[in-house]
Amino acid sequence: MSTIVAISTAVGNSGIGIIRMSGENSFEIIKKIFKTKANMIDIKPNTINYGHIVSGSEIIDEVLVSFFKAPKSFTTENMCEINSHGGILVMNKILELCLQNGAELAEPGEFTKRAFLNGRIDLVQAEAIVDIINAKTEKEAKASIKQLDGILSAKLAKIRTQIMNILVDIEASIDYPEYDVEEVTNNKVLETIRDVEKELLNLEKTFDNGKMIKEGLKVAIIGKPNAGKSSLLNAILREDRAIVTEYEGTTRDTIEEFIQIDGIPIKIVDTAGIRETDNEVEKIGITKSREAAKNADLVIVILDSSKKLSSEDEEILSFVKNKKGIILLNKMDLKEEIDEEKIKEIVKEKTILKISALNKEGIEEIFNTISNMYKFNEIEIDDSLTITNNRHKKAIINMLESIKKVKDSIQKQMPIDIVTISITDILSEIGNITGEGVSEDIINEIFKKFCLGK
Ligand code: GDP
Repeated sequence: MSTIVAISTAVGNSGIGIIRMSGENSFEIIKKIFKTKANMIDIKPNTINYGHIVSGSEIIDEVLVSFFKAPKSFTTENMCEINSHGGILVMNKILELCLQNGAELAEPGEFTKRAFLNGRIDLVQAEAIVDIINAKTEKEAKASIKQLDGILSAKLAKIRTQIMNILVDIEASIDYPEYDVEEVTNNKVLETIRDVEKELLNLEKTFDNGKMIKEGLKVAIIGKPNAGKSSLLNAILREDRAIVTEYEGTTRDTIEEFIQIDGIPIKIVDTAGIRETDNEVEKIGITKSREAAKNADLVIVILDSSKKLSSEDEEILSFVKNKKGIILLNKMDLKEEIDEEKIKEIVKEKTILKISALNKEGIEEIFNTISNMYKFNEIEIDDSLTITNNRHKKAIINMLESIKKVKDSIQKQMPIDIVTISITDILSEIGNITGEGVSEDIINEIFKKFCLGK
């Protein structure tokens, strides 16, 4: 395989930057551009050498170079990592020197892809690396670390052995039909398959938590112009509990912000930005509210409690009828004019909170309501493995389906080779998760999500 190189640290000025090289010729290439004081490099595995990157007689930077000798490296190939100063000019120059001396520019994720192709990690672990890099919350990072650690892989390996043993038993019963062991075999198959089913059902139970940890909740704040949507968003974003990260909005006229409540990511879609109150804009406001409510998991309706309930308010309230929602009566610092009873009639059981977005009062209560509604505190991942990846989820569902087929066919006393087909399907689904026998397209799709230099 070719020798690849990339800048692995984020682009921009920083204290240090890391340029990473992997492949057969890594050491030959580095020898040409790296000079130590004694003018010789004695490459010992797992050592760090101090010296200079040079281009001819010109010193480019003062660096530390770490050497990892095959197979004991991230990719299992000869690797070196150049710790240079973090200036983009310097890093680019060093990268260029590596390229000039025979290395090729790595594709995004190519180092990890090599680690996978060379058998050092499986696909679950490779995907965990992307998830750790992209984790928005501590809980998400924790769930991913477990998968990198190989806990899911180990569980799948155990299931694979159990399934292989079943196949061996079946094979024996086919080879030696005179012993009439079919019934014994069937019972054995059923016993093991039920064991495997139990394991998989336990994993299936973690899907909801996994989705919550990874994708979180999409919350829409809707309401008439001037109800206080922008003020509410500002109050939420300033609250200590909400750690704010900027989020790219999907449409130009909605704002999307990311916060977290009790470690769960919350994406807030705000339909503000529609300021004036002429009729046309009011109408757009209602259309936007409807759209936002439709696409959200949870809808926060904000009403101006210092005004009478208008027909627009009623219309907006109707958007949450069949959804999870919280109703906020804003401007509680002013005299209340709104008809609370009427609101209760429309929204029935939904929580109604009085707040003042302007004075930032009642914000904590909103967080608590959301947290209790979805039992955020119960979403703990300390003791168990949580499935956060959709690809894994699909494979587990397919496996459970195959198990059902195995049980059915045995019950209906179908020929053993029919049973075998479904059992083999379970094996190939395990392969789909861990990466054996996965098509190149899927592999490429997965590694495309990586950043450069990883
Ligand atoms: P939006 O159009 O729904 O985004 O509403 P804004 O957040 O821009 O608020 C409209 C007006 O109501 C602004 O003048 C705010 O200062 C005011 N406002 C918002 N919340 C409160 C509140 O809790 N009390 C009072 N008295 N005024 C508020």
